[in-house]
Amino acid sequence: AGAAARLYTEEDPLVILSSSSLRSTVSNSSSAWLVQFFSSWCGHCIQYSSTWKTLAQDVKDWQQVISVGVLDCAQEENFDVCKEYGIKFYPTFKYFRAHSSQTDRGTTYRGADRQVQSVRQLMVNILQNHTRMDWPDHCPPLEPLSSVELLPLLGQRSDHYTAIIVEDPDSYVGREVILDLLQFSGVEVKRALSSELPLLDALKITTLPSIYLLHPNGTHTLLHVQKRLRFFFSSLLRTLPGVQRRLKSDSSSSTVGQMGTLLGKQSTEPWRDFDQSKVYTADLESALHYLLRVELATHNTLEGEELKIFKDFVTLVAKLYPGGGSVVKLMETLSDWLLSLPLQRIPYQAVLDLVDNKMRISGVFLGAELRWVGCQGSRAGLRGYPCSLWTLFHVLTVQHDATPTALDNTGLEGEAAPVLQVMRRYIRTFFGCEQCGQHFEQAAAVSMDRVQDREQQILWLWNQHNMVNYRLAGSLSDDPLFPKAPWPSPSLCASCHEEKNGVHVWNQDNVLSFLQHHYSASNLSPKYSL
Ligand code: FAD
Repeated sequence: AGAAARLYTEEDPLVILSSSSLRSTVSNSSSAWLVQFFSSWCGHCIQYSSTWKTLAQDVKDWQQVISVGVLDCAQEENFDVCKEYGIKFYPTFKYFRAHSSQTDRGTTYRGADRQVQSVRQLMVNILQNHTRMDWPDHCPPLEPLSSVELLPLLGQRSDHYTAIIVEDPDSYVGREVILDLLQFSGVEVKRALSSELPLLDALKITTLPSIYLLHPNGTHTLLHVQKRLRFFFSSLLRTLPGVQRRLKSDSSSSTVGQMGTLLGKQSTEPWRDFDQSKVYTADLESALHYLLRVELATHNTLEGEELKIFKDFVTLVAKLYPGGGSVVKLMETLSDWLLSLPLQRIPYQAVLDLVDNKMRISGVFLGAELRWVGCQGSRAGLRGYPCSLWTLFHVLTVQHDATPTALDNTGLEGEAAPVLQVMRRYIRTFFGCEQCGQHFEQAAAVSMDRVQDREQQILWLWNQHNMVNYRLAGSLSDDPLFPKAPWPSPSLCASCHEEKNGVHVWNQDNVLSFLQHHYSASNLSPKYSL
């Protein structure tokens, strides 16, 4: 099978195994393994691959205790190993217990239902089938606890939160949430069954499943969740103050290093309190400040294609930046100046002079310094510029939707998704994080051309941003105070989230309305802005 036929790539949140790695990976491992042996020519396997990827994404945070893999039996190098493991049909699912022996060929799953929810529940059952002797190293207890074990915890002080999920015996939510929180410190999740009447009485629980929280200071409360779904419970616990994702220490990607230099000189300024449901003009202004003074400065001259891309970017911001304040005036001036120049080549210094002069003469300001608010990081090197650049482009997609004629007569009006196209070209040409640019370009090449209208433009960028969030969750560029997670969270938009066949799904109509509100001019806060 050539590269084009590959069903799974390194970008997928699963492990691609081969004859050389299968045994050493799955035997005597500290985690259990679930491996799909497939064949890249089997039509059913091709169709099924998207379900398997959804599953792998869904249980990505469980991998320390149970990992998901694939092995392509159609690859010549794998013929022998597939025979050795007795694979006769595709796909075949096999699981391997943690600490299994070298001779263990795994257990074949024979269930007919291969939907995400069933396979996920199978994974929970696999874990619970371990004994004390071979229990996966990092797996917390999954059995329900009794009233006698739990009631004494009430009122106790501790250095972490304890969440108690009370549920019916056939519910998997408790165990799934325990596993979802595996990578997080600061919270321990336990479960109890609805048959524990003394506990239900003491906690005044009447609806199931319920989630009860014991705070470090000894107080306890029944938590209110808008929907009693796994995703809501997990998100709620992940965002408790002080709960942090444990970072991977082995991140090999050089992107992190690049992001570090990109953000290098973030200061040790005092913390600015902010509201996550708002968008701050200070961040947008800082994005432009950084872009014009730092990012562009690495190009001594702008010419040819680069110049065109820069012009388009300036035009886009001049036309779509909301509020019509000094930023717009500055960008309009810059835009007019760039368009009036017959030159094919402009020294960067000329751009800088214009920006500086304008600011001095007419009091048209672009913040004279970086001032992150919604994009503050918990330490230097985190968040800041890339955060503000995403924010800026989200604002521009929403503003384009709100003012459809704003780009008339700019040369950009003919494009189906002008904001995305300009962003794509800007990122490719100027964005200092080269790997980010490559990733973004790959994604754009696959699906950007399918965007047909302004609403799809908003949703495409939202979706793409979430793809990046999924990929980066737990990496070194993930700020522990602002852990990467599917956005908007249930607390920002409960109606954006639904569950279908046990799998989290977005309600895209509600996501669109939320984005149209969140990134609208009326939701911009001028606090901390000049
Ligand atoms: P960010 O992801 O920067 O998000 C900023 C704000 O936008 C959030 O605080 C939230 O309010 C909002 N938000 C979050 N998700 C969404 C969404 N789906 N839709 C709308 N709004 C949302 N870093 C890498 O390490 N590797 C990469 O490949 C990479 N690619 C990038 C590509 C682009 C085009 C950009 C602009 C940045 C890229 N980065 C990459 C940087 C990375 O995405 C983050 O910007 C950075 O790590 C800072 O993260 P953050 O926590 O501030 O949140």
